[in-house]
Amino acid sequence: MPTFITHSVVAGSSAYGFSSGKESLKFWILSIACSSLPDADVIGYRWLYIPYYSFFGHRGFFHSPFFAALLSILIVCTFYRKEVIFSIQWWKYFLYFFILTASHGLLDAMTNGGQGIALLSPLNNNRYFLPWTPIEVSPLTIKRFLSPRGLTVLISELIWIWVPCFLIVIFLKIKRPKT
Ligand SMILES: [Zn+2]
Repeated sequence: MPTFITHSVVAGSSAYGFSSGKESLKFWILSIACSSLPDADVIGYRWLYIPYYSFFGHRGFFHSPFFAALLSILIVCTFYRKEVIFSIQWWKYFLYFFILTASHGLLDAMTNGGQGIALLSPLNNNRYFLPWTPIEVSPLTIKRFLSPRGLTVLISELIWIWVPCFLIVIFLKIKRPKT
């Protein structure tokens, strides 16, 4: 997986792109939570003995676009209740949180280690990688992350995720009309 920090960078730049400076702190917190929540399945894998390859195993159902859609509906219906259901603004929020959560699984599918992602869950539990996997996979434990391996991972994430995110933010900042 890319690290929590890197998923948060994706969340921050996406939130900046979506918000036009008009969204509240709640929106930013939800964005960061969405982008990292799929990795909560590590808890099941490490402490509840849920096998890696099982339906709810690490990189299983919780990394799928289907789960991203469910989570997005839950977020919009819970935190944006004043939006009329299926209105244009409702769909904007739904698509935003859906794409952001689904980006987690897709970025993981671009890593070069671990097992693939159950992108088609719950239809099937097969694990997939994208054809291009330039991102170094991050260790699952903090101890292993705080080793030279962790630095290699961070450099790889910096090149393949942070730099493109910052370039997009700079581009939007220049393009956006001054208020
Ligand atoms: Zn993950």
